[in-house]
Amino acid sequence: MIQTQQIGPVKIFFGKLPSYPYCNTLLVKGRQTLLLDPACEEKALRALAGDEKIDYLFNTHYHPDHIRYNPLFDGIEFWAHRDDAPCFRSLDSMAEWVGVKGTPYEQAWKATLTKAFGFRERKEVKEVEDGTALDLGGVTLQFLHFPGHTPGLTGFLIPEFEILFLADMELSPAGPWYHNKKASIQSIIDSVEKIRKIQAAYYIPSHGQEIFRKDIGPRLDRYLENIYSRERKILEALSTPKTLGELASLSLISGFRLSPSQVWFLFEKTMIEKHLDRLLVQGKIAKNGDTFQREAD
Ligand SMILES: [Zn+2]
Repeated sequence: MIQTQQIGPVKIFFGKLPSYPYCNTLLVKGRQTLLLDPACEEKALRALAGDEKIDYLFNTHYHPDHIRYNPLFDGIEFWAHRDDAPCFRSLDSMAEWVGVKGTPYEQAWKATLTKAFGFRERKEVKEVEDGTALDLGGVTLQFLHFPGHTPGLTGFLIPEFEILFLADMELSPAGPWYHNKKASIQSIIDSVEKIRKIQAAYYIPSHGQEIFRKDIGPRLDRYLENIYSRERKILEALSTPKTLGELASLSLISGFRLSPSQVWFLFEKTMIEKHLDRLLVQGKIAKNGDTFQREAD
């Protein structure tokens, strides 16, 4: 049995695991019902699909650990942010945005998405944008765009209940993740600052069972600090010249051993590359052919 928690009109079904390939699923009820990211666990979702009349299905973004049991809710009006919508319409676009397109990982990645995660291309995607309101009858959701992790990552605010849903701005000690080609470190930083300005009593993340209360300033600071400490590690590693591949093999960000045959090796490389771009602009490193090196302070 998975754990659940009710906060006002929101029922949280905590993911079977706090991380990939599961996430927290939310059921929001007014007179109508919205189901968000059905990927907590198969059995609970099968029961929901049988018992509940669901009017809207919403995905916070296109990642597999958020969409995996969507097929149980086929036929329900599907909503997602405009900036991620192309990935729901086409697996090829998703491959492109993730960064696997044209790489040796592409075929296996696509097979996993369609077989293990039930991905199917959709013709109909109702697109939301920052501030779009959805009146469920007695409960109004205000969708909020938190881009960076993916271009269209979207949470929501229910002002009457002071509930802010953070989606994959999950404020975990291991995050944030910007492993997709279309991810952006600067947008994540900007989204953290956007969250800081929103007053809420409950902050619900997409991963983990902890609901944050009241002042989340220190958590936001720590989340940002993770980005800067990764940057410092990369700078330290570049006291001797290294190529992008050499830096990726050090697994400075993921922290777990990676072999180049794993798609996470590519993701690590993508995250390092985004830091290198920032460090080059800041003049903290120089590029010479294929190698990068720290500039003297
Ligand atoms: Zn994600």
